Formats: sequence, structure tokens, C-alpha cells
Amino acid sequence: MPEKVLILGGTGDARALAAELHDAGTDVTSSLAGRVADPNLPPGRTRIGGFGGPDGLARYLTEHRIDRVIDATHPFATRISENAISACAAARVPLQRLERPGFDAHPDDTWVDTLAEAAAHCRGRVLLTTGRQGIAAFRDTDAWLLIRCITAPDGPLPRHRALLLQRGPFTLEHERALLRHHRIDMLITKDSGGPAPKLDAARERGLPIVMVRRPA
Ligand code: NAP
Repeated sequence: MPEKVLILGGTGDARALAAELHDAGTDVTSSLAGRVADPNLPPGRTRIGGFGGPDGLARYLTEHRIDRVIDATHPFATRISENAISACAAARVPLQRLERPGFDAHPDDTWVDTLAEAAAHCRGRVLLTTGRQGIAAFRDTDAWLLIRCITAPDGPLPRHRALLLQRGPFTLEHERALLRHHRIDMLITKDSGGPAPKLDAARERGLPIVMVRRPA
């Protein structure tokens, strides 16, 4: 019987891992939260939607006889990672964490702990790539925000803004053109890690970068 692995996914790294394990003959199921209407589905089995908290996840592990869980969720998705720790302990299933390294701290960047702190730095025309959650933190700024995310955010949006619904990865050329076309003055993003040509393009133009730190 091949090992049964549950990957908690929603990231490019999770998709790549699912492909690798699937090719190696592992019985792999990827779990997605269901936030995106047309997700990039990884090879192998997929299931979509929450488990119903740590108890629901523990039940799922037992009922599906999962041998191992790999938490490959985004570094800012803290609730599911905490749930995985409790559920795996309760169901006595080994848990591994796959987390991509964060960005290197650059001396010119401003690092902040929260989106609210980032919002206080907004000046001029801002490219905001912190994702669809938490945009309400920017609702009182007078700056103009170009909000780039995969699906439209819910809740209150800043007064002066444009929404750009796009899914990466993006090339350096694309990012350069975006900054030029929208006459961007500042980049606000978060420490997701991985390749980020937006940072290179912003540095080339000498733009200030505000980086939201990962949650502990
Ligand atoms: P979160 O706040 O940590 O989780 C909220 C709830 O969503 C969890 O309690 C769980 O519901 C459900 N959930 C989250 N990830 C799940 C998964 N992979 N499979 C099944 N249920 C999941 O998560 P989030 O920040 O909303 O992120 C949701 C998903 O988007 C994650 O898979 C993450 O990898 C991906 N993502 C997040 C970000 C980000 O910046 N937060 C960026 C890129 C991708 P139940 O309690 O009902 O099980």
C-alpha cells in the first residue's frame, strides 16, 4: 500500500510537492481552502474547503487513514497551520512543515508587523500586493492604491484605488511595465518569499518598499 499523504496547500510550492510525490507513486491528496474560484489544481486527488476546525481535521485524518500531513500552506495562513498542529497531535499523525524562506532584509526597505502599520506609510501612488485579505486596513488612506490580487477582496476598500485581478508568476519585464504604466511611487507587499521580480523592478526605480513581516 502506498503511503497516504495529505498536503495542506494553496501555494505554488504545495503544487510542486504534490506533483513530485504523485510521480513517485505516493497516494497524495491536496487540500485547498476554496478561496479562489478557478484554482490551479495539482496532480493527484484534491479536496476543497475547510475541515471545520482542528477537530474536523483530526476526524478527516482518521477517517481517511492519512499516514502523514505536510503543511505547505502560505506563511501568512496561520490558522490552518495551528489547526494542523493540534489535529495531527490528536490523531497521532506525523506532521511536516514546508515553508519557503523569506526575503532577505534590504537596508532601504521598511519592515512592519501589520497591514495597519503598512497603511500608515502610504504615499502617492502605491502598488499593493498583500493579498485580498485585510485590505480594510487601507480604507482611510488618501493615497491612490493599485490593488493586485487573484480574486477581488471583500469588505471596505480604499477611496482612491484600482483593482488589478491577476495571478502570477510575473516576469521582470511585466513588473517594470506595470510600475511605469501606473507611475507607481511605492510598493507595499509582504514577506511571502520566493521569486519576486516586483522587488527587483521597484529597486531599479529606487521606489520605497514597505514589507509586512511574517506572523510568528
Ligand atoms: P487561514 O486564515 O490560516 O485559515 C482559515 C481557515 O481556512 C482555516 O481554519 C481552514 O478552515 C481553512 N483553510 C485554510 N487553508 C486550508 C487548506 N489548505 N485546506 C483546507 N482548509 C483550509 O488561511 P488563509 O490565510 O485564509 O489562506 C487560505 C489558503 O490560501 C491557504 O491554503 C493558503 O495556503 C493560501 N494562501 C494564503 C495567502 C495569505 O496571504 N494568507 C497567500 C497565498 C495563498 P477550517 O478551520 O474550517 O478547516
